[in-house]
Amino acid sequence: MRYDYIVVGAGSAGATIATRLSEDPDKSVLLLEAGPDYPDFDHLPDDLKLGNNVFFSAYGPHSWAYSARVTAQQTDLVIPRGKATGGSSAINGQVLYRGIPEDYDRWSEWGNDEWGYTNVLPFFRRMENDHDFQDDWHGTEGPIPVRRYRPDEWLPHSAAFKDACVSLGFNDDADQNHPESTGVSPRARNTLDGVRISTALAYLNLARHRLNFTLRANVHACRVVFDGNRAVGVEVESGGDRFVAEGNQIIVSSGAIASPQLLLLSGVGPADHLREVGIPVVHELPGVGQNLRDHPSACVLFRAAGDRPDPQAAAIQVGLRYTIEDSYLRNDMQITPLLMTSEHRPAQVVIDDDENYIGISAGLQLALGKGELRLKSSDPSEYPYLDYNYYQEPFDLERMRKAIRTCIEIGEHPSYREILLDRVNPVDADLVSDAALDDWLMRNTGTSHHVSGTCKMGPSSDEMAVVDQHGRVHGLDNIRVADASIMPDCIRANTNATTIMIGEKIADYIRTGR
Ligand SMILES: Cc1cc2nc3c(=O)[nH]c(=O)nc-3n(C[C@H](O)[C@H](O)[C@H](O)COP(=O)(O)OP(=O)(O)OC[C@H]3O[C@@H](n4cnc5c(N)ncnc54)[C@H](O)[C@@H]3O)c2cc1C
Repeated sequence: MRYDYIVVGAGSAGATIATRLSEDPDKSVLLLEAGPDYPDFDHLPDDLKLGNNVFFSAYGPHSWAYSARVTAQQTDLVIPRGKATGGSSAINGQVLYRGIPEDYDRWSEWGNDEWGYTNVLPFFRRMENDHDFQDDWHGTEGPIPVRRYRPDEWLPHSAAFKDACVSLGFNDDADQNHPESTGVSPRARNTLDGVRISTALAYLNLARHRLNFTLRANVHACRVVFDGNRAVGVEVESGGDRFVAEGNQIIVSSGAIASPQLLLLSGVGPADHLREVGIPVVHELPGVGQNLRDHPSACVLFRAAGDRPDPQAAAIQVGLRYTIEDSYLRNDMQITPLLMTSEHRPAQVVIDDDENYIGISAGLQLALGKGELRLKSSDPSEYPYLDYNYYQEPFDLERMRKAIRTCIEIGEHPSYREILLDRVNPVDADLVSDAALDDWLMRNTGTSHHVSGTCKMGPSSDEMAVVDQHGRVHGLDNIRVADASIMPDCIRANTNATTIMIGEKIADYIRTGR
């Protein structure tokens, strides 16, 4: 059992990396996945297959269902993460949305000079096949299909949202993946005929027949095995037994929660914390599990006219990206209309009657606050402690306040007259002052599902950097991390496209020996 490469986690990044590395028939690749695999499309369970009802997938049987503290005023929230081949791309909302050029240029300024926008663009193009745009910005030959709903396919509430935004002065934008994108536009999506095209479908199906590629599902990685500072294998639990798989290079792609967890379980992380939970220190790296980033989100809830929509109605069709008034961070807000009884209801919004509801949600991009992940014990099966720590920074609350007032303005626009009946939450009393609205936000904020940054990429001079810009773990040999955890900061967009791009780019480094 010795492989050239062992990839731990078959999610957005891991499935991409394993598929690309196994293109070389002379290299053996082992891909380990804790969740199940469904190689036959006809037997793919509905929660993974049917992409329009994200609530059904996110809180269904293929989620790890972690738990996190979000603010002091709220009870802990369930944090969905995909547990199946495809990882979170197998349960997500399928918005295939890139960050803006400044996101990647900032990564470059922070000492990752191979990650500026012009460096990452070829890898965004490599991953996708855009059905709507064929030009220098978009790819046409990659595995992930991208398309946008045409206006004649929009549901009435999507059309009302677009009209309200344009009439309030926001830019009418054709393509959110254009580098100059801002304003209201159709969502770029990796959904085809209602099917969620995860990385299991788009990437792994390209590799399954290769004799040099081995995929083992239902196998839980417990720790990376080291010989001194050199990673030599992965200890796993499979069917109740323990095994060690040996590899020349270990690539940890278990996602922004499980990758730092696995490093910590392996003795790589803040030394004091490792000693606290009884794990021998292999290598001290204070940044492991720190710098937890996300997009805090809150939702204005309206009671809507008519019957509840079909639970599989085409969803997430339009969105707004803009710069909050007086903010120095461009495009730091996303506002999205949501069918709250079917498509993508946030966990903190409770609906316990049979009425129809529509939400207008605000997701803060480039929140300045950071959270953290820590182990509760040395037991690999115990979930880590997660603190998302929203609104630690007053500027984050201030921007969300403004955005919630904009959501209300959009929902009260005449274009929604036939669609929305009345506003349910926040009520008028929550809006009388900034303090009242802050209090409402502290009680009504959830995740956009974009956890990232917990093994951040940066030069060795940055003591909080966990990996260098080629994904190599600082101070150790033969081990890389490659997934959403290595983003130095969360980009101003949903994270799937950027994570797959990271997979493509790190696979390229590995293949070319860098
Ligand atoms: C409900 C939801 C909705 C979302 N909607 C969108 C959206 O619309 N657009 C968008 O761009 N982004 C969205 N995201 C975010 C996006 O899907 C993620 O950022 C991205 O998939 C993360 O990829 P990753 O490779 O870092 O981790 P993942 O895709 O989560 O992959 C990690 C993999 O590692 C496996 N694993 C974990 N621990 C172990 C272990 N110990 N041993 C073996 N295997 C292990 C997991 O089971 C999983 O398969 C959403 C996420 C969720 C959860």
